[in-house]
Amino acid sequence: MAQDHHDDGPSDVALRVKALESLLVEKGLVDPAALDLIVDTYENRIGPRNGAKVVAKAWADPAYKARLLEDATAAIAELGFTGAQGENMVVLENTATVHNLVVCTLCSCYPWPTLGLPPTWYKSPPYRARAVRDPRGTLREFGVELPEGVEIRVWDSNAEIRYMVLPERPKGTEKLSEEALARLVTRDAMIGVGRASAP
Ligand code: FE
Repeated sequence: MAQDHHDDGPSDVALRVKALESLLVEKGLVDPAALDLIVDTYENRIGPRNGAKVVAKAWADPAYKARLLEDATAAIAELGFTGAQGENMVVLENTATVHNLVVCTLCSCYPWPTLGLPPTWYKSPPYRARAVRDPRGTLREFGVELPEGVEIRVWDSNAEIRYMVLPERPKGTEKLSEEALARLVTRDAMIGVGRASAP
């Protein structure tokens, strides 16, 4: 149901942002390339680092992990990550037998406080359709080959609930600090189209 998603809000916000961008570029106040760089920064660098800290803490601290799986919104707020599009979070744990994959079939619902801005492919119709119809094939395109025995669960985000994946902790990382562990966590691993790997 379209009302379950955030179609009204963001399209309005997107229009306003686009109008503002056009105006600033027209007046020669900003360089479009600089804007692309800012978006890239929030999409790839700054945004997902919050989620990576959450994952690293869950790997390092079993009590925190239990709280995270029980009430993700509260556990994530413990680290100071709160706000719009993150009010009702659910964290899904990947294991040796279960792999979780997140999609928004109707638009682009995404947990902003932990992952930042969604990547372009997440918003694209092919990903939104195929993730549900052929999750194993979709994962293969992202370079994730899962053994036949691994169950894939696909979760459809919406305005009510935003999902984030807790990737499996890679083997051989027992001695790493939480900071070092966080560096192993990619955005894609937290969407479920990637895995964390040891350094
Ligand atoms: Fe959506």
